[in-house]
Amino acid sequence: MTPNEYFQKLNSDYLALAQPFEELFWTTFMGTSEDHDGRVAAETALNTFKANPARISELIAQITQLEQEENSPENSALLHGLRGWLQFFEVNAIKSATARDMTGQLLQDDSDLFEKRKKLVLHFANEQGEQVEASTLVLSTNLLSEDSEAVRKSSHDALLELEGFVVRNGLIEAIKHRNAYARAQGYRNFFDYKVNKEERMTPEQLFEILDEFEHQTRDAQMQATDSLIEKHGEHATQPHNLKYYMRGDTTREMDPYLPFSKSLQRWVESFGRMGVQFRDATLTLDLLDRKGKYENGFMHAPQVAWYKNNDWSPAVINFTSNANPDQVGSGNDGLNTLFHEGGHAAHFSNITQNAPCFSQEFPPTSMSYAETQSMFFDSMLSDADWLKLYAKNTKGEAVPDKLIHKSIEATQPFFANGERGILVVPYYEWNIYSLPEEELSAERLIELARHWEKKILGVNCAARPLLSIPHLLDKDAACSYQGYLLANMAVYQTRAWFLREYGYLTDNPHIGNMLAQHYWAPGNSISHNDTLLSLTGEGFTGKYLAAHCNRSVAEAWQEAQTSMASALARIPPPVQPLQAAIQTVHGEELLASNSESDTAMFADFEAEINRRYH
Ligand SMILES: [Zn+2]
Repeated sequence: MTPNEYFQKLNSDYLALAQPFEELFWTTFMGTSEDHDGRVAAETALNTFKANPARISELIAQITQLEQEENSPENSALLHGLRGWLQFFEVNAIKSATARDMTGQLLQDDSDLFEKRKKLVLHFANEQGEQVEASTLVLSTNLLSEDSEAVRKSSHDALLELEGFVVRNGLIEAIKHRNAYARAQGYRNFFDYKVNKEERMTPEQLFEILDEFEHQTRDAQMQATDSLIEKHGEHATQPHNLKYYMRGDTTREMDPYLPFSKSLQRWVESFGRMGVQFRDATLTLDLLDRKGKYENGFMHAPQVAWYKNNDWSPAVINFTSNANPDQVGSGNDGLNTLFHEGGHAAHFSNITQNAPCFSQEFPPTSMSYAETQSMFFDSMLSDADWLKLYAKNTKGEAVPDKLIHKSIEATQPFFANGERGILVVPYYEWNIYSLPEEELSAERLIELARHWEKKILGVNCAARPLLSIPHLLDKDAACSYQGYLLANMAVYQTRAWFLREYGYLTDNPHIGNMLAQHYWAPGNSISHNDTLLSLTGEGFTGKYLAAHCNRSVAEAWQEAQTSMASALARIPPPVQPLQAAIQTVHGEELLASNSESDTAMFADFEAEINRRYH
């Protein structure tokens, strides 16, 4: 086979496996198909393709052959594509036979722990002292909103019970097996393996960034704790009281300005004014909750965007949320989904490389790189100028300044704590995955959890004890949590660049084009760091996120006032077409589409929501 034939075949073989899997993934997760066995079979076939180590030597041979041929534009494009596939298989194929043999054990560990965890029933004592069964979601809501301290205490105790349960029911064995699997592939431990694979960094490079951020936000975190003590007394820093005293929720007051039925229109118009385009993608949005539907928002692409021999092949993208439009806060959640998942969709619709390996969402696409794109857009939803221009009630009145001020007062003092709540996880996981095997005991894991919570969060025990976080349990999510913090650092680095360059973000018509060019077009053909360098001229840095954490309420309010005043003085740019065929569905029902016009879609969507939820 010539290098070109090999390349064409690789592209089509991959798509022949990825598309059926993605289609079944969507229909089974949306509850419109029961073909779970079909999905598992399709996934297994795709995974077998990805894990094939023979591809690596084949690709190296093809690349070597091609490098000796003449230097033409066709050959250099072909080289680019083959190198992309080489990177893909280097990340996904398991070269070590020992490690390949262990993958079954790792899956078994996850399912054992999952099965045992499912059988554990947690309880809290209600105000009458009766034991009530509760999910972790209910327990953490209690910590936030239950006025009775005894109820909060018993809810937190249940989280500690969960922590004790996981360390005695398989987590330790799982850690040992994961470490052995990583060592068989030449890594020091599973954390080392994960960070290298997912972020293309060593743990040392990662902790250089994290240490700096830890140092820069330490004072803000301590000030927040001190002010809690000053206001409510020492007992406010007890683990069951922390969330309760830190809360400052303006969701209810904000709700009339963010009706769910208007969220689709506000998303399309806001993205359109920023010049975000989808290059002829087809977007299907299944936003409403229903029985049998998967309980978490996500975006998947049954067809990835790419140039097939210079012909553009646009993306086909689905995304979902679990909105209940009759609930308070649903409009805010709905917008968050549209901006977040819509940000992912914009990213994956704009990858303009010559092979599908560059535009699929799994490794070598880094999680923090992908999340940077989505979180950049959802970060705008709390910007004062965005709220002023878009958050309006049914009478068309904009959200009052007073309420924006109140929401800054409620959130700014604890912004650092929120970010450090993510930061504590990688410190802890790196520590426990680096322990010598003989030190891995239930007591030691819990002792270290308290140690890192004290060190990073300044409390004797966190409101959410470390081992009650589900991400720490299964192998796919374990040792990956830092991705969210890295993404948020990149978001604030990007925001800072646009603010320096243009003075504003909301309705800035340059955003779509600049992101498409510097962040989206290359896909995973360059590193996350290189995308940041390309746009901002600076490598990865947490200093802008730290600066955001360290603002006082007065400073944040001053910035908000300035941004609102200049937003109101600007003439809004025209809404540019998104260049996307959009349909909103509810399972198999079509709610609204823009086949006729965006305006018709907004009206149909609004009417459908109002009809169903009244
Ligand atoms: Zn995301």
